[in-house]
Order: sequence, then C-alpha cells, then structure tokens
Amino acid sequence: MNVLLLGSGGREHALAWKLAQSALLDTLYAAPGNPGVAAHATCVALDATDHAAVVDFVAGHDVGLVVIGPEAPLVDGLADTLRAAGVPVFGPGKAAAQLEGSKGFTKDLCRRADIPTAGYVRVGTRADAEAALASTFSYPVVIKADGLAAGKGVVIATSEAEAAAAFDAMFADGDAPVVLEEFLDGEEASLFVLTDGVALLPFGSAQDHKRVGEGDTGPNTGGMGAYSPAPVLTPELERRALDEIVAPTVKALAEEGTPFSGVLYAGLMLTATGPKLIEYNARFGDPECQVLMPRFEGDLVATMLAVAEGRLGELPAARFADAAAMTVVLAAAGYPGTPKAGGAIRGIDAAEATGATVFQAGTRLEGDTLVASGGRVLAVTAMGADIRAARDAAYRGVDAIDFSDGFCRRDIGWRELAR
Ligand code: AMP
Repeated sequence: MNVLLLGSGGREHALAWKLAQSALLDTLYAAPGNPGVAAHATCVALDATDHAAVVDFVAGHDVGLVVIGPEAPLVDGLADTLRAAGVPVFGPGKAAAQLEGSKGFTKDLCRRADIPTAGYVRVGTRADAEAALASTFSYPVVIKADGLAAGKGVVIATSEAEAAAAFDAMFADGDAPVVLEEFLDGEEASLFVLTDGVALLPFGSAQDHKRVGEGDTGPNTGGMGAYSPAPVLTPELERRALDEIVAPTVKALAEEGTPFSGVLYAGLMLTATGPKLIEYNARFGDPECQVLMPRFEGDLVATMLAVAEGRLGELPAARFADAAAMTVVLAAAGYPGTPKAGGAIRGIDAAEATGATVFQAGTRLEGDTLVASGGRVLAVTAMGADIRAARDAAYRGVDAIDFSDGFCRRDIGWRELAR
C-alpha cells in the first residue's frame, strides 16, 4: 500500500521512520517532509491547504492511507474532504478537531459529559471577563485565548495586576473569545489514545518540558524534550483517565454525530482528587511522538489503517517496549524568539553510531550541508532500560552532534530522575 504523510516536523520524521518499518508499505510519500523524512519517504511539494490537489495526488499515486501529522489541516477540514472522496485518513474531521481548535468547545463538552476538568467561564468581552473574575475566581487564575494558539495564549495570573495585563493583551484588538479557568495543582502528564470513534486503543504516555530554560524556567516553547512512559501516570491513574475522561469524550462526540477518529492526546493534571483534563490535542505531540514511536512494537500502517477504516475494535492491545525512551531537542540559538537560521549541523551519523536516533525538524540541505531552518532543529532520541539509561544514551547522541549555533536543555527528565 502507498501512504501519504502530511507535515514537516520532528513528529513527522518519527512517524515516517515508523511507517517505513511496516510490512504493508510499498511507497511512503511525504508532503512537504524534510531532509530527515526524505530518508524514509519520497518528499513531494503538495500544499495541504489545497484540498483538491491532495485528493488529486492520492488518486494519481494509488494512495491507500493519508496520515495527517499537524493540527492545522485537521482544523481546516482536510480529513472531511478526503473521507468524502473515499480515502482512508488518519485524523479527525473539522467538527471533532475542535477539541483542539477551540478550548471553549472542549470545556462545554466536558460540562455536558461530566468530565473532570477545571471550573471555567467563557467570555467575549473585557467587561465580562472582569465581572467573571470578580464573582467566580480567586488567584491564581488561568486566562486562555480561545483558538489554535500553540500553547502560547495561556497566562497563569497570580494577582489582579497580572490578570489586567493578560486582558490588555487578549483584548488588544477588541472583543475576543477568552476562557477563564480555575487553577489546578498537580503534575502534568500526557496520555495518547487511538480511537475510530467507538473503540479505544491506549497508545502510551509521556511527559514533556515546555519551558526553554533548565529547571523549567523562561518562556514556553513547542517542547524541549520528552520521555515515555510517564511513571507518574500509574496504571490505576491511567485507568481512571480512560474511564472518566477519554471514554466519555469519545462517546459524547459520537452521540452528537461528530465522531473523533485519529489520536486523542489528553493533557492531564494529576490532582489530589484524581486526573483532570487540561486540554485535548487532535494529533500526536511533538516531541512526544519521538518517544512513543521507538517504544511502539506494532505495525503503524496496519494500526492507523484500522483506525481510518473503523476496525480498531478488531486489534489487540498495542504493544510497547517495556523500556524508557527520551528525546532531547536541539534548537537554534534565539528560539523561542527569533531563531538563527543557516547554522551548519554535522555529526548525525556519529550520533546514530552511539545508538541514538536523530529525528529532524527545522532542517534543510544547502548543497551537501545540513543547516538549521527553524526553531526546533533536531530531536535526539534514545531508549534505555529505565529513564536514567535512556537519558544517558540520548545525551551521548547529543554530544556527538556538532551544531555550534544550537542549544539544548541538559536536564530533560529531571523531575522523574529526582524521584
Ligand atoms: P493549554 O494550552 O490549555 O494546554 O495550557 C498550557 C499550559 O498551561 C498547560 O500545559 C499547563 O501547564 C497550564 N495550564 C493550563 N490550564 C491550567 C489550569 N487550569 N491549571 C493549571 N495549569 C494550567
């Protein structure tokens, strides 16, 4: 079977790497891909916002499965267009992708389906936001811009002055959808679950580091590193998250006529009273995908096809290596502000000779030289018997790479390692 993978990040390199190991695969196409993806796929220039062009490509290349990596094409309804054309696709349609695209949509669904989450109020104007703040919340309060904000539209305000500053930013252009939330205390973990809209297939857990600086300080990023599994999400807590959060979500969406098909990525807060939902994403995390794929022992094409064709209930439980994986992100200097472009990257072969796998994100080839072309550039990934061994192996890979215009955090996994 031929498969088309959409996207160009480290997540898509990890997906391409795993898809390419499938016994079912003939040709893997990737659009647009990157130099790392190109080791496993034929990269093609195809604009995912041009739905007709994607449908034409699929028809012209006998593609039997389309895998949508990032959120934007999902929220844009590409999966609906492909399904209407009879193409099996891994990823939810526009209506179900609102779980990621609209925080308000998800909060309202949680309320309807009695799913544990932070108490909240949706507002559209500054006056309503101030009134809600005064009547309903105490500090700290969480203030979120509603919409696809890549985690950047969230402020945890600890005082009236901080809340006012957040409102200044969020209502700078006038009225805007904003969600105010009760602050949840606990440790965060991510749970991944494949679903075809009916059946659930738990697909591993992970924890990531969002802040750019060591000790989890400084501005938020897309993620500076991750490890899997997340030991804080014990089997009992995972069971509760599945039963109390994920299963009722899938059921409610199906009952409302907008079933979710693809991967549900639940961002959880493990509070004193149990797991609560912080947010959903409608695709794999980046860099979490880079630690899930090395641990997954099944056939990814067969698994994703079963999701796309509504046959997930026929599959046995997903098998994951009883080992830990860690990924360390190498970013270009300046990230998450303005990353320095064009810095040469050498030593990927040397890193892989240590046993690590180097997934590429913001890279491009300049002649024969690989150079940086984005904020997050590489995700150096390794497995180990436990998180300490995975960490040591990942940093052995990092240390073999010569990327003088880049940096990484040296403390990925610190919280878990300190336990
Ligand atoms: P979100 O974009 O909704 O995932 O929020 C980004 C980050 O803000 C989360 O990963 C949490 O660290 C934090 N956060 C969001 N909502 C809450 C909440 N209700 N209580 C505490 N922290 C939160």
